[in-house]
Amino acid sequence: MKIITDDPDSSHTKTGEFPCISCHTDCCKEYVIFVNAHDVYRLSDGLGLAPENFLEIYGAKDYSLGVKVKEGLIDLALKQKNGACEFLEDTKDVFRCTVNDFKPGVCKSYPFQMKNGKLVQMSDIMCPVDWDVAEFEKMMVSHLEKDESEWRFYDELVKEWNAKYWRKKPLSVFLKFMLDKVEFSLKS
Ligand code: SF4
Ligand code: SF4
Repeated sequence: MKIITDDPDSSHTKTGEFPCISCHTDCCKEYVIFVNAHDVYRLSDGLGLAPENFLEIYGAKDYSLGVKVKEGLIDLALKQKNGACEFLEDTKDVFRCTVNDFKPGVCKSYPFQMKNGKLVQMSDIMCPVDWDVAEFEKMMVSHLEKDESEWRFYDELVKEWNAKYWRKKPLSVFLKFMLDKVEFSLKS
């Protein structure tokens, strides 16, 4: 999940380079990107595409938080193509996210997380870079807080759906229900 800024020449690591440009770790290839209602809304709105065009379903990781639709107990994720996120442009010369303005929250924050109220770099071994965390503090903390609240919103929406429709309706109806909820929340 490349963090691409408007200013690729600015320093973002302790060594002073912007590393995603030349990184060959392929974080956009290694992870399945699970998404919430706001992620889907922004992508659908930004791309002018129905969610079915860029989503695929996976068996739910967590029984109590999976979406119960006719197709099964599921989670939503971005489609993959050739073993990578389908929004990744990966050629000999270019390796970039083609939906940078509306990419999912998890992509925007990678590889940072909040731990005990502090912004830290994730300890997983995927990202090899020693980021200058302090430089991201202001932007990332507010982003991570927003992301957390969007996931809470999604969890509540899924609970409401499951209580009402437990496997009675197909995914397409759930997607509409979900996007309507986001739209309503943005207007209110
Ligand atoms: S692994 Fe780290 S340095 Fe490489 S593209 Fe992803 S975020 Fe950027
Ligand atoms: S949406 Fe963009 S940043 Fe996220 S995995 Fe796909 S290509 Fe990478």
